Amino acid sequence: MRLLEVQAHDTAIDQLRHKIRTLPERTRLAALQARAAELEARVGELRERHTGLSERQSEIEAQVGAARARKDALEKRLYAGIVSSPRELQAIDEEVRHLGTYVGSLEDRELELMEEIEPLESQIAAVEDEAGRLADEASSLTGAISEAEVAVEAEVAVEAAGRAEAARGVSAELLASYEVIRAKLGGVGAAELVGTSCSGCHLSLPAMEVDRIRRASPEEMITCDNCGRILVRRA
Ligand SMILES: [Zn+2]
Repeated sequence: MRLLEVQAHDTAIDQLRHKIRTLPERTRLAALQARAAELEARVGELRERHTGLSERQSEIEAQVGAARARKDALEKRLYAGIVSSPRELQAIDEEVRHLGTYVGSLEDRELELMEEIEPLESQIAAVEDEAGRLADEASSLTGAISEAEVAVEAEVAVEAAGRAEAARGVSAELLASYEVIRAKLGGVGAAELVGTSCSGCHLSLPAMEVDRIRRASPEEMITCDNCGRILVRRA
């Protein structure tokens, strides 16, 4: 009967380990991690676009700066009164007007870029915001999982101590056979013979077989013909 106690503790330990493996927090955490990976990819794309547009904006600003400097220099020359040739004056005047138009179109383009950049910035902020909330939730889930693990491990330790105590009353050979059968048969290696039925597979054994089992010495290891589990008889 001690073997059935060992079995009961092993079953309890298996159930505790299953409970800890299948905590609902783990499912939620896996979903969060998948979503976090999506957000990371999304924010990467947005940042790349943002960088591209910002670089384009800087280039345009540099072009505006150069064109303005050129225009200022020409205007200075124009109003300084040092150019007297009408043809040259007209050429300078034309270039100044041309530069004005050029700067105007660059500034229009820059405005367009700024209008593209602005929504990107709010999109990036929104994605980062969601990622931050997910990270907070993930960290509290991780904490809850750790706590549950500690609590379940404490229960496992109690069961393991009970199992060790019960196992002391079972011979080493019987225990070894039990472990082999248990590993093969989904965690249940020993079953009780209740009346004429095996409590492992719940099938009735033939009357002759039951007679033979009842007459066998209590030390003899008998297994169920049907499921192969060790049959424990009440003394
Ligand atoms: Zn059986």
